[in-house]
Amino acid sequence: MTSPIDLLRRQVSDLHQELVRYNLVVWTAGNVSARVPGEDLLVIKPSGVSYDELTPENMILCDLDGKVVEGEHSPSSDTAAHAYVYRHMPEVGGVVHTHSTYACAWAARGEAVPCVLTAMADEFGAEIPVGPFALIGDDSIGRGIVETLQGHRSPAVLMKSHGVFTIGKDAKAAVKAAVMCEDVARTVHISRQLGEPLPIAQDDIDRLNYRYQNVYGQQSAAR
Ligand SMILES: [Zn+2]
Repeated sequence: MTSPIDLLRRQVSDLHQELVRYNLVVWTAGNVSARVPGEDLLVIKPSGVSYDELTPENMILCDLDGKVVEGEHSPSSDTAAHAYVYRHMPEVGGVVHTHSTYACAWAARGEAVPCVLTAMADEFGAEIPVGPFALIGDDSIGRGIVETLQGHRSPAVLMKSHGVFTIGKDAKAAVKAAVMCEDVARTVHISRQLGEPLPIAQDDIDRLNYRYQNVYGQQSAAR
């Protein structure tokens, strides 16, 4: 029988290919993780292994302090940030990090992507906010993500001068948020070239977001 952890290893490995498919990553940058439901464990990408060589078997199992429990490689260098999010946001089941181009262009200016498209109101329910500048090596990236996203509708944050972190109820939802984040960052960037995008009234953003999050689509399927 396949254990829940084996299933997550396969899912996390497969989801990394979605980052490639949607052009969100180059070389070995970017990573996906999933919380092991009911356990203080997460599954994450190994550090420095190319996307072509990722398999369910070489995914790394860590505890929520980022310590390796099972795996031959060292885990992604962003593991501490992922682990911090899982420790402080119990509702989060998946975390994704990318340096996708258009989203990073906003992050480089430290500017939030304004909510000017109905698709943004649907998925993000607000602007995509900017988190603080933070260096890798301690908890500051994780803390910046949690402080920015806690109480915010957006599942995506642009960490200043760095890149995108997204969260979701599971890893697939977090990958979807990363794909949508890049898509709207690109569209709003292009719109800006010809003028100032028109704001959407807060009431309409609220209504669109409520409908998308509660009424739209197949309710039983993962969004
Ligand atoms: Zn990064």
